[in-house]
Order: sequence, then C-alpha cells, then structure tokens
Amino acid sequence: MVKETEYYDLLGVKPSATVEEIKRAYRRLALRYHPDKNPSEGERFKQISQAYEVLSDPHKRSVYDRGGERAMKEGGAAGRGGFRPPMDIFNLFFGGGPSPHGARVERKGRTAFHHLSVTLEELYKGTTRKISIQKNIICKTCGGRGGREGHDPRCPKCHGSGVEVVIHRLGPNLVHHVQAMCSQCFGQGEWVQPLDRCLSCNGRKVIREKKLLDICVEKGMADRQKLTFHQEGDQVPGFQPGDVVIVLDQKQHPIFQRLGNDLVVKREVTLVDALCGCKLVIYTLDNRRLLLSSRPGTMIKPGDRKCVPNEGMPIYQCPTQKGKLIIEFQVRFPDPGWLPPHQLRQFQAFFPPREEVMATEGTEEAELRDYFPQPGFGGRRFTSEAFPEDPREDPLRHNVQCQTS
Ligand SMILES: [Zn+2]
Ligand SMILES: [Zn+2]
Repeated sequence: MVKETEYYDLLGVKPSATVEEIKRAYRRLALRYHPDKNPSEGERFKQISQAYEVLSDPHKRSVYDRGGERAMKEGGAAGRGGFRPPMDIFNLFFGGGPSPHGARVERKGRTAFHHLSVTLEELYKGTTRKISIQKNIICKTCGGRGGREGHDPRCPKCHGSGVEVVIHRLGPNLVHHVQAMCSQCFGQGEWVQPLDRCLSCNGRKVIREKKLLDICVEKGMADRQKLTFHQEGDQVPGFQPGDVVIVLDQKQHPIFQRLGNDLVVKREVTLVDALCGCKLVIYTLDNRRLLLSSRPGTMIKPGDRKCVPNEGMPIYQCPTQKGKLIIEFQVRFPDPGWLPPHQLRQFQAFFPPREEVMATEGTEEAELRDYFPQPGFGGRRFTSEAFPEDPREDPLRHNVQCQTS
C-alpha cells in the first residue's frame, strides 16, 4: 500500500507500475505538455517532470510510497533548491537513456586516446615514461555548478528540458512540429545567466588542468597495445569521468624487424662464408654481443633464414621467455675478375662435374651481357609472376658454360 497516489495519477499509471511503464508514460506526457508546444501547460509539465523524477528513482520512490510528498520534502530527497527537471529527458527523446531492465545506468564521459611513441629497445627492456595530458576537472570554486549558489540553473529557452520544438511552415495551413536540441544550452537543460556565472570557470563548470600520467611500458608489449587509465579522462558534472587510453606506437628500428615475438635481422655474408660456414656478431637490443656461428659444411643460400631460439622479443607478462632471433641471409658474390682466368679451371675442380653443353649444327650463338634497365622503366626487377618460365624450356638454356682460356 502506498500513502499517496498523486504522482502516479499525474503520470496516469498504477502504483504497481514498473519502471518501464513509468518511463513510457512520462515520455508520452512530456511530449504532449512540453512548454514549447503547450505554453499554457507549463505548470503541468513541471508537475509531471517532478513526479517522474521521484518515481523513476527507486530510492526516492520508496520514500514517497512510505511517506508521500511531505516525506519527500522533509527528507530532501527531491533535491536541494526544489524541483530540477530530470537530466535524461534529452535521452528519452533522442534515444539512449535508461537501460531496458530499468537499472540505473552510470553515465560515463567519453574515452580519450593518446599515442605514445616507443622504441623497440624500450619494448625489449621495459621502461617507465611520463605523458602530460590536458583534461577538464570540476571547477573547485563553484563545485561544478557554474554559477553562484542558489542560481536557477534551468535554461530559460527550453525550461530545462534541453529540447525545443521547431515549427516548420509547410504551407498556409500546414505546420510541422519538430523536436530539436535546444540552441541555447545545446541540450544540457542548464544555462547560467551572465551575472551569475562563476568567475573561475566562466559558467563552464569545469576548468582545464594539466596532468602527468606515469606509464609503465612492460617488456614484450606490442605495437598498438592499449593501456587504460580508469577515470582519468575529462570530468563532467553528473557523469563518471571517462577513461584515458594510451596507445603504444612502436618506432621502426633500423636493424631489427619485429614479427610477433620474433625478431628478424638481415645479414649479408660472403660467398666463401656461405659455402664454408661462417661466424657473425649481432648486437642485441640490450646491447649484448652475440657471436653466432654455422657449422662448417652447412651452406647458406641467398634468402635462407636461420634462427637462434630464445633471442627474440621477451614474451609479454612472461619475460624470462623470448621468441626467436631470425637471421635472413643475403650472399655477396666476389667482384668481377676476383680470380685470374687461368685459375678458374682449378676452382671448378672443387665443384660437382658439370654437364657439357655443345653447339650442334644449326644452333645459333650469342654472348650474354649485363642488363641495365632503361631510365623511365622504373628500374623494376622482373618477377617470375610477370615473366613466367617459358613452357618450351630448353634444358641447354640454363647450363651456360664458363669461358675458359
Ligand atoms: Zn566555477
Ligand atoms: Zn535550453
């Protein structure tokens, strides 16, 4: 049993109505009695809004149900300074708004994103960085009111609803009413008269402040990884502050390329290293000198990849383990004329025997020369896709014989 039913009657619902039914009823009535549409019903709109403010809040509703309007006024549950229209009326008209289960939704400010450029060394070793951000904080002088204490916060244009009705004249006898965001308070429902404005924030309720955030870049963090600082975003009166998200941007490294947890490094070795086994030194991202060697007799072909386990990037949140260090090889051939022609035959003797290619009758002969792309041709290298192998492939074509004297 409820003590009074006046608020329920105003909204045209039963005292047993659900939150959802109350919201529906209010939406319907608020549209009908809005002062822009119905200037003579301003008092009615105010009563409806007051009833809604109480009945849509479970705590205020239970105070009202037990003690009626008097209990509301004595308990101050209706809000200091008398009636204030519910702020989420704008949401009721324009979507968003209450959750379908009638639970109170914590309204939260938007998330602010900042980028932090980090080197691969920093992601390898881990580091701490400071980043300075600008954010709005609630004005301490006025406590977020925007004006002197006791000022009427309601926007005079929309009477605090944040909504105005715009009339479109479509013809001599035809007008179209359109709900629009109030152009004076931009849907906020509040507007501070110039004389009432707080001198610190000039009525904006918030002031700009610099804040330093300590960012812990952990070993093995990824490029584009996001670090969230909860509620460090702009403060807005009546809202939970939004989050600040720091996005790591990994700078390109001149030597190492990162592939997930692996690191790739390109190395050029001489032909003799490629054929006879090699030793090479790589300085790691934490500046250790790593001497790598291949077993004698193992060969390195151009484009070959070899790897060293556990010398890649530390694995995020498990930094004692690391990915692989991958070495991608290119082979540098000796300069022309490195071996006097008379020694070529001796050199050949070290290699598996070659198939002799003979000129037969009717064969034409030509000499191979170096090819230099013409300027304007883009200097593009031919790819095998662009120039597929000739299907009439002649096995003789590939066995070009060395000229020996
Ligand atoms: Zn202020
Ligand atoms: Zn307004």
